[in-house]
Amino acid sequence: RSKPSMEEDYVFKVVVIGDSGVGKTQLLGRFTRDEFHLDSKSTIGIEFQTRTVVIARRRVKAQIWDTAGQERYRAVTSAYYRGALGAMLVYDVTRRATFQHVARWVAELRAHADKSIVVVLVGNKADLAALPGRREVEVEEAEAFAEEQGLFFFEASALSGDNVEAAFMGLLGEIHATVS
Ligand code: GDP
Repeated sequence: RSKPSMEEDYVFKVVVIGDSGVGKTQLLGRFTRDEFHLDSKSTIGIEFQTRTVVIARRRVKAQIWDTAGQERYRAVTSAYYRGALGAMLVYDVTRRATFQHVARWVAELRAHADKSIVVVLVGNKADLAALPGRREVEVEEAEAFAEEQGLFFFEASALSGDNVEAAFMGLLGEIHATVS
């Protein structure tokens, strides 16, 4: 686990996982820099970004890791998961296949991550789900899956920013509750 400096009380490593194109990089950019890019190229080389938040009067530095496109080759290694206290598992509400693969990602977490890792399932691109015929995964179905697997759940939109803060802060708050 990374050591906190004088300026923070905790450093929490969080990994973002899920199929390629679901919006992992944009969710991260929205949370750490309040930015969004519609024409985002796949991430190259950037390993993690940070944002420091206050939780229960403690300064918590979230160190959030992006797969840097490795998920396309199913080459996310155990080094990526090492020391992670939290995971954000993302699917795209307009692409059913990305939801069908969530179980595979959960299995990957169970195999490589710490047993006590806190996981939030995020159905991203909720803005598009409002358009006729675009939604391919119902909220109730994802909620039921999350409950069965012991995951927290949010639908969110990196584009509008809806629920992005809530999903990350919920995850960080839950990690804080488990380590403090
Ligand atoms: P990654 O491969 O999972 O990191 O996905 P990216 O963050 O690169 O996003 C893939 C594509 O989906 C990009 O064109 C993004 O602009 C777009 N995208 C990401 N999040 C959203 C969202 O919430 N709404 C919409 N409409 N598009 C999004």
